[in-house]
Amino acid sequence: MDYRFDTKCIQSGYQAENGAPRTLPICQSTTFQYDDADALGLLFDLKAEGHMYTRISNPTVAAVEAKIADLEGGVGAMLTSSGQAATFLAVFNICSAGQNFISCNNIYGGSINLFSVTLKRMGIEVRYVRDDMTDEEIDALFDENTRLVFGETIANPALSVLDISRFAALAHRHGVPLVVDNTFATPCLCRPFEHGADIVTHSTSKYMDGHANVLGGVIVDGGAFDWAASGKFPELTEPDESYHGVVYTESFGKAAYITKARVQLLRDFGATPMPLGAYLLNLGLETLHLRIRRHSENALAVARFLQGHEKVLWVNYPGLEGGKYHEIAQKYLPDGASGVVSFGVKGGRAAAMHLMNSLKLARIVTHVADARTSVLHPASTTHRQLTDAQLAEAGIGPEFIRFSVGIEDVRDILADLGQALDQI
Ligand SMILES: *Cc1c(COP(=O)(O)O)cnc(C)c1O
Repeated sequence: MDYRFDTKCIQSGYQAENGAPRTLPICQSTTFQYDDADALGLLFDLKAEGHMYTRISNPTVAAVEAKIADLEGGVGAMLTSSGQAATFLAVFNICSAGQNFISCNNIYGGSINLFSVTLKRMGIEVRYVRDDMTDEEIDALFDENTRLVFGETIANPALSVLDISRFAALAHRHGVPLVVDNTFATPCLCRPFEHGADIVTHSTSKYMDGHANVLGGVIVDGGAFDWAASGKFPELTEPDESYHGVVYTESFGKAAYITKARVQLLRDFGATPMPLGAYLLNLGLETLHLRIRRHSENALAVARFLQGHEKVLWVNYPGLEGGKYHEIAQKYLPDGASGVVSFGVKGGRAAAMHLMNSLKLARIVTHVADARTSVLHPASTTHRQLTDAQLAEAGIGPEFIRFSVGIEDVRDILADLGQALDQI
């Protein structure tokens, strides 16, 4: 049976057999036993399917991976210990020293650090593009060593919306895949594979978990990209000596990319989630469809309230009529634009700080995208090291507030915002 999305949130992944536990069991074991030495040997040669060591795979983790692959519409998924690990492994799986990749510039700050500083140390160069550049300008940044294009469906914290089909076309013209960080949208609001993306990543620490209880990440393989066509991905199309010469595209077909990420990179880097963490993530996924709709409704109400408020300078929310990304959000996010709103208050940094300190329900945390309403002032926290001039360049003025709208009763959220604005 092919179920609808909301049913999949609950039913996909773990399938209980006759007499087995009804809910996903936590297989909190590092290892798995075999009666026959040859059987284990076949696993090591990737000639048989099965679990051998939890660093590479585990039944609890595998069930959650299967659910997320199903939700995104991919052929396979791999959970990681954090979203950062997912982003790193997604890029490093197909990009080596001496090569480069194209990335949108308005992405998550942690991804910018990873790309600009750490990958650079590994000999991998990032080339940033703005979404207002023409196709010709972006085309000109590709060369024969370019291996992928990276962007975020709804960027954190810029809240820009990626024109996925446009960037997929640009990438495909050069024989390389489009990798999309779909953290803020979740597959409930946008499924990037349906618009031409090839690989999807997430920080599951945000809406997927939803409770702010467990860090995690995931990479999902869409299975449609032809790795052999361009000759640019020998790591997938030529023998891997660390597995007796296995060729991923030949042995694993559509799942070549995600299989290599697991058996080679998870094996070597060990950025593996705990089975207990995967279990907690699954609890979150069971209500994702309900929560994300409420987040989107509440956030739209907050954005409209702020837009009409005399002490507010500007409001940015992709679901808000008249905004820069509203039209593109209609295409990619027809069911809601997720839960994060940014805005600026009149009176600059001092007014912003005063507002933050006056909020009661909304708490100041270094997190977004969970059930509780929270607020962050990037200029004094995540972007603290920058001068006001540098902040302006990054599009983050001293008055900029990132407001993560939770799933409480929206009347309480609006009342809290209202009383805090009154105090400025
Ligand atoms: C938080 C976040 C990440 C990093 O995820 P962690 O789980 O914190 O490592 C990556 N991308 C986006 C869009 C995020 O919001």
